[in-house]
Amino acid sequence: MRLSRYFLPVLKETPSEAQIVSHRLMLRAGMIRQQAAGIYSWLPLGYRVLRRIEQIVHEEQQRVGHIPLLMPTLQSAELWRESGRYDAYGPEMLRIRDRHDRDMLFGPTNEEMITDIFRSHVTSYKDLPLTLYQVQWKFRDEIRPRFGVMRGREFLMKDGYNFDLSREDALHAYNRHLVSYLRTYERMGLQAIPMRADSGPIGGDDTHEFLVLAETGESEVFYDSEITDLRFGGREVDPDSHAQCRAVLDEFTSRYARTDETHDAAMFEAQVPEARRRVARGIEVGQIFYFGTKYSEPMGAVVTDGEGNRVPVHMGSHGIGVSRLVGAIIEASHDENGIIWPEGVTPFHCGIVNLRQGDAETDAACEALYKALVARGLEPLYDDRDERAGGKFATMDLIGLPWRITVGPRGLKAGVVELTCRRTGESEELAPEMAVARIAEIYAGL
Ligand code: ATP
Ligand code: MG
Repeated sequence: MRLSRYFLPVLKETPSEAQIVSHRLMLRAGMIRQQAAGIYSWLPLGYRVLRRIEQIVHEEQQRVGHIPLLMPTLQSAELWRESGRYDAYGPEMLRIRDRHDRDMLFGPTNEEMITDIFRSHVTSYKDLPLTLYQVQWKFRDEIRPRFGVMRGREFLMKDGYNFDLSREDALHAYNRHLVSYLRTYERMGLQAIPMRADSGPIGGDDTHEFLVLAETGESEVFYDSEITDLRFGGREVDPDSHAQCRAVLDEFTSRYARTDETHDAAMFEAQVPEARRRVARGIEVGQIFYFGTKYSEPMGAVVTDGEGNRVPVHMGSHGIGVSRLVGAIIEASHDENGIIWPEGVTPFHCGIVNLRQGDAETDAACEALYKALVARGLEPLYDDRDERAGGKFATMDLIGLPWRITVGPRGLKAGVVELTCRRTGESEELAPEMAVARIAEIYAGL
């Protein structure tokens, strides 16, 4: 992409309404625009990051055998009356009436609708296990939308639902989700810690939230500091192996880690030596639930088992806050000059800064670099505007591309360009084709 032809409305001033750094930086970098309280347009740069995150979520879901589908955002109230949640959900549900006076709602979550799809088409245990998921917009009429996309009213969520014959199989699905989520967040450059949580309106026996530690997080968290040393490390886990998935669950959930909802001070003291006790704040970026037959029983999602009995299926649901993650990643990765995107989610793989726009040789070198990167399947952002170098660097730092190639007449005389790492600020001079090879190598495994 050439910046002169792109739409990147960066702001010079820090918007006064933004209280936390991710919100400020998203506004300043021209990623989002607020359209109403808690409702945002995703401008091109923000949209690219959102899509990258969504893509990782899809890849990791499908890696463990989960099947994508897409359900509507608007739902009929009927299904929610069947489960008893139409009245129970409260004012967070946006209720709408259509022209025929039918009660509708903008889905805050989809347990009822997916259960309806399941019961209409699946009748035998032979079709199990089954996990269906979608990435779709949700609406929750939050009383205090704030912090930009972190607590919006309209937000993008991955929501998945497993259907299993037995409690044991459903618990395997739960553990498999935990493994898959660890890998998903890690690919985004995040450490998200699973913590035992309270189930809230979704209901259930077993539930873990995934929290990214950040001072601006809305949840208070209590944990054993040893947990932050754990790394999933991209290990291969067979998603069908109960034992392998359980081993990961045990490793990541055996130490004390809870949100304020389930925190037990006496247990914390008994289980964790004082030197390792931590109290901090965290951002919830996902949650997994096992809730058994809570929806399948009242809604008649039953299958025949091996003996011909009709039994309600065991279910769980699993959510990732896709749009919230954009903010959470910035909270975890920025400095005083702007965002620092992890390579896994960056909107462009690298920036190219032309220090002497209009100088024939420099322009030609930038064009050649650009084409060479594109030929390698990479997406560079080329700042080809007629602007001062300082302004170009400031924009690149603000929008946070992890790598920058700077091209100027002086370097070209010596046959080199400059490759700069956004995170460390370190630069090195090298031949243009070496810079291309280096960038290609960095992204090869991602
Ligand atoms: P919270 O406690 O933050 O209100 P929740 O527990 O109600 O969230 P879930 O039902 O677990 O949310 O939804 C799954 C994920 O969707 C959450 O882990 C979170 O990352 C994201 N999410 C929930 N509410 C919002 C919101 N208002 N804005 C953006 N993302 C949200
Ligand atoms: Mg939650």
